[in-house]
Amino acid sequence: MPTDFDALDRADPLTDVAARFEPGHAGVLYFDANSIGAMPITARERIERVLDEWRELRRGGWAESDWLDAPLRLGDKLAPIIGARAGEIAVGDSTSVNLFKALGAALRLRPGRTRIVTEIGSFPTDLYAAQALARLFPGVEIVYAREGEDPRTLVDARCAALYLSHVDYRSARRHDLAALSAHAHTHGALSVWDLSHSAGANPIDLVGAAADFAVGCGYKYLCGGPGAPGYIRIAAHLQQACDPILAGWMGHADKFAFAPDYAPAPGIARQIVGTPAVIANAVFEAALDVWRAVDLAAAFAKHARLGDLALKSIAQATAAAGVSIASPRAAGRRGGFVAIGHAQAKAIVAALEDHGVIASYRPPDVIRFGLSPLYHRYRDIGALVERLARIVNERLWDRPQYLQARTT
Ligand SMILES: *Cc1c(COP(=O)(O)O)cnc(C)c1O
Repeated sequence: MPTDFDALDRADPLTDVAARFEPGHAGVLYFDANSIGAMPITARERIERVLDEWRELRRGGWAESDWLDAPLRLGDKLAPIIGARAGEIAVGDSTSVNLFKALGAALRLRPGRTRIVTEIGSFPTDLYAAQALARLFPGVEIVYAREGEDPRTLVDARCAALYLSHVDYRSARRHDLAALSAHAHTHGALSVWDLSHSAGANPIDLVGAAADFAVGCGYKYLCGGPGAPGYIRIAAHLQQACDPILAGWMGHADKFAFAPDYAPAPGIARQIVGTPAVIANAVFEAALDVWRAVDLAAAFAKHARLGDLALKSIAQATAAAGVSIASPRAAGRRGGFVAIGHAQAKAIVAALEDHGVIASYRPPDVIRFGLSPLYHRYRDIGALVERLARIVNERLWDRPQYLQARTT
């Protein structure tokens, strides 16, 4: 029996949440949530409020408005989404900078240990941050798990940090955060996680998993907008022992004393480096306020179901057309997107765009569809499968303009 997508939408407890986001172009299905989530309708008024404050208050905004507290206030709003406690997250800087801060802090907490264990398939920026740190810490080397190799097998008493992306950015494979963190601990190592492809899509329990460090980005599933700040989360019991590798005046214990010597602020506040990005924070907060009204368990259950349905329906509708399923079939092993494989993936993504479906291509043969529990509807999955099936079954991708297309 064909899936009744409309009936699923009628029964969806989150259907009203979609109305809190700008719908985008009529008829276009946007499935690149993993690159940038949708725009909360309130984003515009939040920016306008900051612009008014800027015009009226100038420097008074720091004292009279809420600009200065934003990194920790937004962190506390984000905390429930990733299973962290209040007071564990500082919002600010890019994910790349936060990777550097988290891994640097972990290395400083494990002096004498000489290894960072990671995966060669990690997102490049994650690898670059580790490589830069290894150059700064004499004697520290990076040990890479090869594709398909279990990074646990590389962790031993020399390991300072097990440093991983929660979700593989090509296949969507999601690691068992609790099991890997526990494994790191049995060897005295710390766990450092990049949640960019899971936060806002999958259930995460950082406290329950006893994860030590986590970072992630604001603009993907969290819908914080272009240039949204990233975040760093450090388990409460480690914060006081962390000597920030990037020390700045905004993380000083008494920032307006202008003391010549650095004294770290208590707790996670010392991870704040410089002046907060006020406008970007205002937009991110608009998104976090949408999240606050959402039943998280229902959202993550819906996300799993959207992915299950997409994979099942795609497999059925494209069986004879050279499409393979590239991401785990079990929702509990998948991150924020689903991935399929096809030898002509790049041309198919270009053809999809022409047919009103925005997806993303990753070399050599992967097509990714990012799924948001907040604004995707089940009928969007139905429409996606219909358009994709036409393109692959009728070989509509086999045209020069698609075969030569440039995609991002
Ligand atoms: C998106 C993403 C980033 C982004 O890093 P920026 O510093 O925000 O550009 C980092 N790591 C992973 C795994 C990502 O998916």
